[in-house]
Amino acid sequence: MVKLVAGNWKMHGTSADLGEVRAIAAFAAKYEGAVDVALCLPATLIHRAAEAVPGFTVGAQDMHANEEGAHTGDLAAAMLHDAGAQIVIVGHSERRDAHREADADVRAKAEAGLRAGLKVILCVGESLEVREAGRAEETVAAQVDASLPQGPVDPARFSVAYEPIWAIGTGRVAECGDIEEMHAAIRARLVAAYGEAGAGVRILYGGSVKASNAAEIFATPEVGGALVGGASLTAADFLPIVEAGA
Ligand code: PGA
Repeated sequence: MVKLVAGNWKMHGTSADLGEVRAIAAFAAKYEGAVDVALCLPATLIHRAAEAVPGFTVGAQDMHANEEGAHTGDLAAAMLHDAGAQIVIVGHSERRDAHREADADVRAKAEAGLRAGLKVILCVGESLEVREAGRAEETVAAQVDASLPQGPVDPARFSVAYEPIWAIGTGRVAECGDIEEMHAAIRARLVAAYGEAGAGVRILYGGSVKASNAAEIFATPEVGGALVGGASLTAADFLPIVEAGA
């Protein structure tokens, strides 16, 4: 299975950073077929980036589940697609937390994103409190069950990212054994939901992935790629991770 290495720029980046996008896209082109690469940018950069690097996968970090309407400040999937986005992250823990997104909201976004022709990365992950209470697996399994889009999915267009909240932006990475266990639990839910197609859905790991740990994480069974925050902001940090995924 070709890995997907997706960058999540979060609320970072202006037009002054398009050079990084260009450098990352040029490098990714050399590895076409060996690794899939995407950059989920602030919405303000999507159009310019998509025009600057045709053929490279530029994406968004969130979207509204509705097609249009009175939702001040929100963006519909079709608008993102129109701006040049090919992929969207839904259900990131920062959205679930700061914007009180529940599993049902995340499911609606995933379904609307797929309907609009976007690829979707759906994020799940447990808090430190839940992990320490020994409830990580059941919590994430329940999140997956309640937020997976309903109906058939195309594994080429849909991925799940396991991002333990305590590993995001903290420098603290989950143990490979824990990642393997959790990804296996997620795989079981995907197969239960989608049958054979569920076996082909890529399960990404996210949370303090960087050049120094990427190879080990990618070698872990059931890891189909990575969702990378801080280390995706510059080509210097991101390219070694892309290379490790190829
Ligand atoms: P990080 O973020 O790589 O900076 O930990 C990952 C994410 O939140 O997607």
